[in-house]
Formats: sequence, structure tokens, C-alpha cells
Amino acid sequence: MDVNSQYLHPQYETLSREEINKLQTQRLQETVNRCANVPFYARKFKEMGINAQDIKSPEDVRKLPFTTKQDLRDSYPFGLAAVLLDKCTRLHSSSGTTGNPTVILHTQNDLEEWANQVARNLWMVGLRPNDVFQNSSGYGMFTGGLGFQYGAEKVGMLTVPAAAGNSLRQIKFITDFGTTAIHAVPSYLTRLYEVMQEQGVDPRRDTKLKVFAIGAEPHSEEQRQRIQNMFGVKAYNSFGMSEMCGPGVGFECQEQNGLHFWEDYYIVEIVDPDTLEPVPDGEIGELVLTTLRREAMPLIRYRTRDLTRVLGRTCPCGRNHVRLDRMKGRSDDMMVLRGVNIFPIQIEKILMMFPELASNYLITLTTDRALKDEILLTPIVKLVPKGSLPVSEGKAVRVVDKRKVYQ
Ligand code: AMP
Ligand code: ZN
Repeated sequence: MDVNSQYLHPQYETLSREEINKLQTQRLQETVNRCANVPFYARKFKEMGINAQDIKSPEDVRKLPFTTKQDLRDSYPFGLAAVLLDKCTRLHSSSGTTGNPTVILHTQNDLEEWANQVARNLWMVGLRPNDVFQNSSGYGMFTGGLGFQYGAEKVGMLTVPAAAGNSLRQIKFITDFGTTAIHAVPSYLTRLYEVMQEQGVDPRRDTKLKVFAIGAEPHSEEQRQRIQNMFGVKAYNSFGMSEMCGPGVGFECQEQNGLHFWEDYYIVEIVDPDTLEPVPDGEIGELVLTTLRREAMPLIRYRTRDLTRVLGRTCPCGRNHVRLDRMKGRSDDMMVLRGVNIFPIQIEKILMMFPELASNYLITLTTDRALKDEILLTPIVKLVPKGSLPVSEGKAVRVVDKRKVYQ
């Protein structure tokens, strides 16, 4: 660990495209071999007449079958394990809104690699062993807790597992321990700022904060700017999902020009959600990820339902790992209003343009006659007193749909 190096893993972070292709081909072959131990994949490979020898380039991933969240649910709890349970040392589970929850298994190596990914990200935004890292996100099954904990420890930082909520205690930790970096969901940081204001704590004057890692929920560029301006702290977008490990999958570098997705760990595809064909760089589509290192539960062409696009494949920071735009939202979060597709962050973007408004908001969908009679949509914007909307300790709930199912 060279504290003066801008890279924690220079041998992987600075790979050329050619080297990435070579590494991915080799790791994809390994993954296909590992998946042959999973009846679900073994059956699909047989049906499609494919095996590891057919993988000669990363693009050959397109010969492989997709995996969906429903497949995970159908295999609940351990059906997709590629190793014996004796080899697994942890599981994370996410509760589904319908049906079975999903389970993600990890071997000790998987946990080690996950911590490496998170550590790489924190290093990338300038954090070093002498920093104090406060993890103000939920612990337990939510991967933002243990994921950042182990990653921050791997960097060697003094790590404060503050968990979510209790803003007064968070502020006390920040000031007493000299916290320099925080990980939290963006909606929580805006709340934390309000409490700081109420307490007469000025983050610029009274704290040593310099870096935020914000993620786990969609947020607009405007929301990020607002957070940065409130605290005078750089806020870096962090993308994670439990099925891939948790946080660590994609992270912004100091250029803040999109999320670097780590191609030594994943093959990244952006596909048209209807045809499942790849879309050209720059076009929005569904993010599809294939794990390259996971032992306990490798996933092939996992349909994330997150919508984004490729921004570039080079970066002034020297990393050639693909850069993706901030997530527009999940296809499930899309509101269809009179045939128009709208995502909550499009509304957020407008709200954030009004400095006199606080940062919390709730979109309520109803079938109001007045709306029906209009040709264009006219949202009713109702201002409520600051602090009166519910603040979730986890991911923010932005939409309440009161419309009838047939609408
Ligand atoms: P979970 O597996 O419960 O942690 O949820 C993963 C999901 O959270 C992803 O599929 C995204 O929809 C969302 N998510 C995570 N990080 C971000 C981010 N930085 N921006 C937008 N959405 C995110
Ligand atoms: Zn970069």
C-alpha cells in the first residue's frame, strides 16, 4: 500500500482495453466453469449447447443466458449456490415486495474481494489510512453497512459503524472523532444538514469532513450539487447491488464524470429492455452485469432493471474501466402518466432548482378528474412544513401510487 499512489490496485485500475479484454475472457471462462456446478445454469448451457470453450472474447457473454431476479426467487434459498454451503461464510437477503426474498451467498474469498472493491473506491477519492470514516448507513442485511465497514477497514481508516439515524449522535461522532468521510444515502445527508443547522453546527467551521460516498438510491446531479454546497464536501456517487456483492460495483473517481464500473470484476452490458439486444454507447438501456470473481454465487447476465448509458471508456484519471451515467432509475420506478414515462429524479431535478425548498419530497399519484380533463399533465405541488415528510432510515420512498390498478 503506497499512500502516495493515486491507485490502490494499479495493476488492475490502469489496464488498457486490450488487457481488460484478455482478463475478462479468462475470468468469464472460469465463471462459466463454476456455473456448470449450478443445476440452473448447467441445464441452460446444455439447452444452448454452450460451454467454456465457446468463450473467446468478452462479447461472447452474449451467447450465455440471462438471469433475472425471479430466477433468484425461484431458487430460494440456496438453489444458485456454485459451492457447498460449508464453503460459504455469509449470506445477505433482501426482502422482496412479493413472493420469496432473495439470498446472496458469499465465500470468504468473495467477502475479501468485495472489501477490495470498496477499498479501491475509497482510495480513488483520496481517502487514506489516516482518515476517519463514519458509516451512517443501515447495517444488517442491507449491504451498505458491512460492505463499507470492511472496505474502509481494508484501507486502514479508523472506521465508525454509526449505522443509520439518530442525527444528534451522528453529529457528535463527526465532531468528537474528527470524521473526515461519511457514507450515507443522499436523502439522509440532506436531513443531517438540517439537524446541524438546528444545532448551530457549521460543517465548514466545526468539522473535518471532506468526502461523502452517496448511493444506494437514485439521485439527481442537482441533489448532489446541493449536498456538496450545503456541507462544502465532495460527494461521490457509489453504485452497488446485493446480487453483485453490495457497494463497490461502480464508483466515481475525482473527475466526477460518471461511475467507473470495475471490469476486472464484472462484464458490463447495456441492452434494450424489450429486445435484449445491446444498445450503442450513449444510449439509455438496462444495465446487465456478469460477475467474474464470485465463487459462492456467480451470476451470468443479471438483469439489474437499472437504466443508464455508457459515457465513455477512458478517463483523465487513467482508468479505462467503463464510465456509466448516474442511474436514471429502475424500470420498476418508472411512472407511466398518460402514456408519458417519468422517473422520480426528473421531478427531483426541478425541485432542487428552488433553493428556498428543502430537499425531501414525496410524489403521490392519484386519479383526479381535474387531471384527466387536461391535455398535459399538471402536477399539484403542495408545500409542507420542513421536516413534516417522513424520512426513511434506509432508501428514500419517493412515490406513493394511489391510482387504481387499471389506470
Ligand atoms: P440493494 O441490492 O437493495 O442494495 O439495491 C440495489 C439497487 O439500488 C440498485 O439496483 C439500484 O436500483 C439502486 N442503487 C444503488 N446504488 C445506486 C446509485 N448510486 N444510484 C442510483 N441507484 C442506486
Ligand atoms: Zn476516472
